[in-house]
Amino acid sequence: MLYRGRFAPSPTGALHFGSVVAALASYLDARHQQGKWLLRIDDLDTLRERPGSAAQILTTLEHFGMHWDEEVVYQSQHLRLYQQALAELQNIGLVYGCNCSRKHIAAIATAGIEGFIYPGSCRDRGISKTTSHSLRLRTNNLDTVFDDRIAGAITQCIESEIGDFILRRGDGIFAYQLAVAVDDHEQGVTHIVRGADLLHSTPRQMYLQRLLKMHHPVYAHLPLVTNADGSKLSKSSEAWPVDTSNPITTLNQALKFLGQQQVPAESVEELWPQAIRQWDIGAVKGVMNHRCTLIF
Ligand code: GLU
Repeated sequence: MLYRGRFAPSPTGALHFGSVVAALASYLDARHQQGKWLLRIDDLDTLRERPGSAAQILTTLEHFGMHWDEEVVYQSQHLRLYQQALAELQNIGLVYGCNCSRKHIAAIATAGIEGFIYPGSCRDRGISKTTSHSLRLRTNNLDTVFDDRIAGAITQCIESEIGDFILRRGDGIFAYQLAVAVDDHEQGVTHIVRGADLLHSTPRQMYLQRLLKMHHPVYAHLPLVTNADGSKLSKSSEAWPVDTSNPITTLNQALKFLGQQQVPAESVEELWPQAIRQWDIGAVKGVMNHRCTLIF
């Protein structure tokens, strides 16, 4: 079976335990199915980028014995591809300019599963599509349905639950949703294993895939590692930078977190073959409903 998986960190700081969990799960799932594992650095948001962190992420993965296939892809080198995709969406008449400020949206919109639900105020206002305005994609009230390998059946109506979403920000930066759909397609990704913080983004990516006539990958969203107060770990807030001095312990903690059997090993080279053999994505479902907080 053809399997192309990937890990796609943003270079906003050192890897934290949650990103090690995502790296490990995507790596194990790919290798368990004799697939390729690709590495992409999602470095579009230059304002959030931390200099040196892309190189640091690569070094950490190597240190942990997670070896990727093919050349590392950097989103910053794909701007032309995003521009082409945007032009295609413009040609089918689904893109419009928007000059609503966050403050204005907060005043008029209702809160949804992910921030405010954009009510489409600028849809028919004919706002110019210059770079000083954001560009939004018109959505519709159809349900997007998919079967997540871990979270199960997911249904979302993008228009009523998220609203028309941004493709290119007012500062000219392409939005994550557009870039990820384009790159997953460009890299021939067939399987995506990533954190559940992106579960609600998946219907938007599938909508873009449909409009751009791309295949849908198969999705699996992992339980999230959170701080003790339930908030999300984030690389940019320097939460839990991962302990690289003892990779075997860290990798075993990640295996345990995902409901997998731990692997006693003297070296990472010794750990991986057994971890790959034993990988059971079904066991991740078992930990899904537990409190996913990691307290050291
Ligand atoms: N770059 C995203 C992040 O670090 C993940 C992208 C993805 O897996 O789709 O949160």
